[in-house]
Amino acid sequence: MTIKERVESVRARIAAAALRVGRDPGEVLVVAVAKSFPASTIEEAIAAGISDIGENRVQEAQAKIGEINAPCRWHMVGHLQTNKARLAVRLFDWVHSLDSWKLAQELDKAGSTLGKRVRALVEVNVAEEPTKTGVTEIELFPLLERVGSLPHLSIEGLMAMPPFDPDPDGVRPCFRRLTRLREEAVSRFPELSLRHLSMGMSHDFEVAVEEGATMVRIGTAIFGARPQG
Ligand SMILES: *Cc1c(COP(=O)(O)O)cnc(C)c1O
Repeated sequence: MTIKERVESVRARIAAAALRVGRDPGEVLVVAVAKSFPASTIEEAIAAGISDIGENRVQEAQAKIGEINAPCRWHMVGHLQTNKARLAVRLFDWVHSLDSWKLAQELDKAGSTLGKRVRALVEVNVAEEPTKTGVTEIELFPLLERVGSLPHLSIEGLMAMPPFDPDPDGVRPCFRRLTRLREEAVSRFPELSLRHLSMGMSHDFEVAVEEGATMVRIGTAIFGARPQG
């Protein structure tokens, strides 16, 4: 299949999943995660109608962003170290992986220096896996309470990356938990505009859409298997 055919198939599956639960498919943004694929492949995806590209490493993204002329928005979906915050703010339109107060402060500082308001999602470790990034449920609300004071940071929702489960239905409880956390956060922090839920990848995005995802991060279902590096 070509990238265009894969994009069309992903969009059709998102639309079917949305309609199953009475959602408007237009509420779901496809972020095509292009890590390990070259700029020319990203341009193919943009030509196929993709508007948003995800990367998980700042350096790798920097090289590709420099090569691409087609208009698109860039999303940092991988773990972000505080010492790369400034470069990330320069390169990306969205950061999906805000997971500490220290990183929030660094992003805000970079936003101030670069005259930019950084759009970010707080990553939640919904399955409470010790080896994973993201804040725990207990850490989430205190963090949301503090970030409201940072003028160059705009927190617009939550993100989760649940453990892989061969059965996509197995991660439904994780998606449901993130949805519930967003609802609770919206009622506790009405001053923030927590509209987004970034959840769902190639093997489970339909379940994520059924559970309320507004951004799905899709790599292999659009680009094919990643080359082993
Ligand atoms: C690679 C990656 C994805 C996409 O994974 P696929 O299974 O290829 O769709 C989504 N989110 C993050 C954070 C990733 O690193």
